[in-house]
Amino acid sequence: MSVLNLNTSISYLKSVGPNRAELLKTELGINTFNDLLNFYPNRYIDRTQFFKINQLQQNSSEIQLIGKITLVKSVQQKQGSRLVATFVDESGTMELVWFRGAKWIKESLKINTPYVIFGKSNYFNGMYTIPHPEMELLSDYKKNLRTAMQAVYPSTEKLNNKGISNRVVSKIIQTLFEELQGTFQETLSLNIIGQYQFISKNEALFNIHFPKNQELLTKAQQRLKFEELFFIQMQLIRKNMIHKSKIKGFNFEKVGTYFNTFYKEKLPFELTNAQKRVLKEIRKDLGSNAQMNRLLQGDVGSGKTIVALLTMLIALDNGFQAAFMAPTEILATQHYNSLIALLEGMNVNVKLLTGSTKTAERRLLHKQLEQGELHILIGTHALIEDKVIFKNLGIAIIDEQHRFGVEQRSKLWRKNELPPHILVMTATPIPRTLAMSVYGDLDASVIDELPPGRKEIVTAHRYDAHRLSVFKFLKEEIAKGGQVYIVYPLINESETMDYKDLMDGYESIVREFPRPTYQVSIVHGKMKSEDKEFEMQRFIKGETHIMVATTVIEVGVDVPNASVMVIESAERFGLSQLHQLRGRVGRGADQSYCILMTSFKLTSDAKTRIETMVQTSDGFEIAEVDLALRGPGNLMGTQQSGVLDLKIADIIKDHQLLKNARSIAMNLLKNDPNLSLEEHKPIKIAYQEISKKSTLWANIS
Ligand code: ADP
Ligand code: MG
Repeated sequence: MSVLNLNTSISYLKSVGPNRAELLKTELGINTFNDLLNFYPNRYIDRTQFFKINQLQQNSSEIQLIGKITLVKSVQQKQGSRLVATFVDESGTMELVWFRGAKWIKESLKINTPYVIFGKSNYFNGMYTIPHPEMELLSDYKKNLRTAMQAVYPSTEKLNNKGISNRVVSKIIQTLFEELQGTFQETLSLNIIGQYQFISKNEALFNIHFPKNQELLTKAQQRLKFEELFFIQMQLIRKNMIHKSKIKGFNFEKVGTYFNTFYKEKLPFELTNAQKRVLKEIRKDLGSNAQMNRLLQGDVGSGKTIVALLTMLIALDNGFQAAFMAPTEILATQHYNSLIALLEGMNVNVKLLTGSTKTAERRLLHKQLEQGELHILIGTHALIEDKVIFKNLGIAIIDEQHRFGVEQRSKLWRKNELPPHILVMTATPIPRTLAMSVYGDLDASVIDELPPGRKEIVTAHRYDAHRLSVFKFLKEEIAKGGQVYIVYPLINESETMDYKDLMDGYESIVREFPRPTYQVSIVHGKMKSEDKEFEMQRFIKGETHIMVATTVIEVGVDVPNASVMVIESAERFGLSQLHQLRGRVGRGADQSYCILMTSFKLTSDAKTRIETMVQTSDGFEIAEVDLALRGPGNLMGTQQSGVLDLKIADIIKDHQLLKNARSIAMNLLKNDPNLSLEEHKPIKIAYQEISKKSTLWANIS
């Protein structure tokens, strides 16, 4: 058989033609034979079952009947007319109704001829009716390919209105199968097929459209899901391999005096095993001649900052500069202060650059940077402005990466001949399956262990009505020397309602916690940055007892003495945000608390979120719940990925298949990077075909 070209336009298909082709294209994005083959049904219905009219019940779903039309009449109504046909079988009478296309339907209907009709029945004025039924002459019905499971395809109103019903689509696909004689090239290797007992590509495609029985349908779905996930993983992993072999990076050969002195003399604690492991992974990358492109995940409080610092010191040891970028000014300032403290007595020049850095300071900084006198530059987005020129930037570390766009990240290394190594750090745990899909082309490290001696944060849910007892508790904590955060939701920085809540809240707090016994700070996005910084510093130094804030403190801020986090209107926050906020406490040796305040009325999702927070403090577990609640497309950083536009697989439900697909793809590419072995030929051909069309989003590079 000649291999028919799957890229042929569907307009060449008998039963399609230019008009239908255009509609299928605009409505469903189907252009080619291949698109049509991969246009999978979203459900299946049993079409071997027939009902009798006297068996119909109100609210029955889609049903199938055999009978005859005895009478057709047009009924005039306000807009146009409606066509009503009387339909009978040996058990009773019902009506078929059309509101559109009455004229040509009337002409095509045959009286007293057996039909098979299919549709959703309504009960109306003592009579069952089916609006716009699908109809087929019984004689044709018997001739056609018929299976127990009839595919139901996604459709649109426009297609339905233009008469391209499900039956028509099914028919078109049937013609396609006849045309192609059901011979499709295998796309997996015999090895994989054998290992998972997959059915062939041929059988899978046939059964996904025309399942012979439930068992074969399930097998078809398994095989096609695997295949979809497998080829995405192949692309991601291959991208990573190509990146490593093509993109040269600075070779940091040695670990020298900066690192060693710091490690031996300045490190205030012993690193956790997880920190040590991650550091090893990073060091290996840095000495590999390729550009490091690594994602570092670590729950809040797991100690990413020290890893960042040690990594930067390796760059310094090799004569390079380092940049450390944070999403907010508060956070950048905090990193700056803690690095300065940690590096005290060492000869390292560290500077801070943010939007509020004064011009004179800025000039000096630019100069030192260009001459290589400045070793480490910490800052916000200000770091990527064109005026900021490094002498030799060796590594860029980006904290809380989801706050930066792809565009901004890549700007950092347009400043060099060779790209600097990149370490992206995030405290938003990404569920494993999602990480595999969205960041599958990055190397990933995880700090999965908290520093020793941390006490589990006690988390409680309280209704607004119990505010007084919460205040009483806060007073006790403050009396013991603790400090308190009270956070208000600020969903939209410009929303005046939210500000009113915040300011009202602040006033009532000040009333409840009067000066001079108590001191209260406030920080929000509308404040000038020096005022913000001033208030932050008062709290950090322990001069104030309570910090009333919006989510500007969500990321990174580290005040070990703060032991209570109160979150107002907690039902308005997402899970990952709640988790981030809670991570602001529990950093010191004392027992810490998180109190989630809500109103009495909660949606079921909000209830789940609050309950999850009360039950667990494991960021990965929380991320899994978040994924289940919101779906993969709504989580941080996934929107633009394209990796999640899956046709048949579901990264949550099919996570086991995904893991298998990834590990198989990984092994395969390790042993045969160019797919040149004979047994991998089918994979190679399919891979080339897929990657031609693929628009997989470039994560970092
Ligand atoms: P995050 O990962 O959230 O950025 P940080 O780097 O801010 O966490 O670290 C949280 C706190 O834990 C800091 O006060 C830090 O000094 C401390 N810390 C980090 N690593 C260790 C360790 N190995 N042992 C003890 N304390 C540590
Ligand atoms: Mg941090």
